[in-house]
Amino acid sequence: MTPDEFRSHAHHLVDWMADYLENVEAHPAKAQVAPGEVLAKLPACPPARGERFEAIFSDFRSAIMPGMTHWQHPLFCAYFPANSSPPSVLAEMLMATLGAQCMLWETSPAATELEQRCMEWLRGMIGLPDAFEGVIQDTASTSTLAALLSARERATGYGANLTGLGGGAPFTVYTSAEGHSSIDKAVRISGFGSDNLRRVATDANLAMLPEALDEVIRSDLAAGLRPLAVVATFGTTSSTAVDPLAAIARVARRHGLWLHVDAAYAGSALILPEARPLAAGLEQADSLVFNPHKWLFTNFDCSAYFVRDREALIRTFEILPEYLKTKHQAVVNNYRDWGVPLGRRFRALKLWFVIRSYGVEGLQAMVRSHIEWAREFRSWVEAAPAFEVMAPSPFGLVCFRHVRPGLDDEALNRLNAEILDRVNRTGDLYITHTKLRGRYALRLVISQTTVTLDHVRKAWEIIRAVAGSVQA
Ligand SMILES: *Cc1c(COP(=O)(O)O)cnc(C)c1O
Repeated sequence: MTPDEFRSHAHHLVDWMADYLENVEAHPAKAQVAPGEVLAKLPACPPARGERFEAIFSDFRSAIMPGMTHWQHPLFCAYFPANSSPPSVLAEMLMATLGAQCMLWETSPAATELEQRCMEWLRGMIGLPDAFEGVIQDTASTSTLAALLSARERATGYGANLTGLGGGAPFTVYTSAEGHSSIDKAVRISGFGSDNLRRVATDANLAMLPEALDEVIRSDLAAGLRPLAVVATFGTTSSTAVDPLAAIARVARRHGLWLHVDAAYAGSALILPEARPLAAGLEQADSLVFNPHKWLFTNFDCSAYFVRDREALIRTFEILPEYLKTKHQAVVNNYRDWGVPLGRRFRALKLWFVIRSYGVEGLQAMVRSHIEWAREFRSWVEAAPAFEVMAPSPFGLVCFRHVRPGLDDEALNRLNAEILDRVNRTGDLYITHTKLRGRYALRLVISQTTVTLDHVRKAWEIIRAVAGSVQA
């Protein structure tokens, strides 16, 4: 592709992109294809000779687009969003054009220094003390792994990196029954073993019980095990339950454990001063992760990892072969030493574009609206006799279900699963489900970049209409 061809295709694509974002609601929120349908449209062998871009783009529209779920649809209310915004997309375009690999300060000084500054901004924006230092990781899963590995190394005097884990008593890790599956993954990869992950009991609001945590730790200590770390959750994936961080921090400190806080989705709410009391005690954590790629309008991937003991993080990951030695390494951050991968994308650029485009107040206004609209949606559910709310909803997620007199939980589970399926087949709204204490709950998340209160009203209409039409 010549520079002139690139220019012309790029202009054309930007028009397509703007049209797409403007008319995203013309697409079904959830892809309406069957397994294998897209695959069948793709030739079994790659082309031997290069093809014209027009042909490639035309196939993108006819073969690929129908198989896409539209995550930027304002009524994509499933899972948690991977939200985005126009300034973030523009930054991604520049990043792709520069194609820089930002593993070391030297391999792009601006990428390193912008990342440092953006993480300082973000730290201030969420009210975290200056004692924390931040680094951008790809995902919360990677950040939580980094936290557990750092805890392991600090606890073994950086010895497990050298000699492995063999010998000593097993390390144990603690999270609530509602903790995310990435914690299970991290204990596997760290060499602790899933059997040594303790799932601590929760209260009526699905938040970890600190007394139960203390009890499990004591019983592990009595059994000769080595309690290592607690992963508390600020906003669980199922229901956005908030673990009591201050009480958990006291227990962790009493036993000398690393406290990591998984705030993957709800951490973005901490840009609102009024949300911070919910996270009281956070300042005592050893590390925190939250994903601007979930609720801060920054394209996936962008996960903000903050750690209090930067030395523990760097000593865990630093390896310095001759070919990576550089002149300035003592006075600059080399982020390849702050996590698992060596190679790094220039992710700070999109965060910078987003924070500057909206300003802190603009971002606060969006997040605040989402929380208000979730509260409003919740009030409609509460007022409807055929529905019930199933968990507290401090952020943008509401968990609820349709109810009918005379049906037991099992029948209601089946009925709500059928409602979910039918709602998602309309293409106008995409929601997902969870189970809370064995009961099937519909999850509606209001955190999309372009969602409005009118969209939320429309979602409620769709759900009510579908629920009314389903036979038990
Ligand atoms: C989404 C989520 C994760 C995983 O996030 P990734 O960035 O995809 O790894 C972890 N924990 C919680 C609480 C989440 O909601």
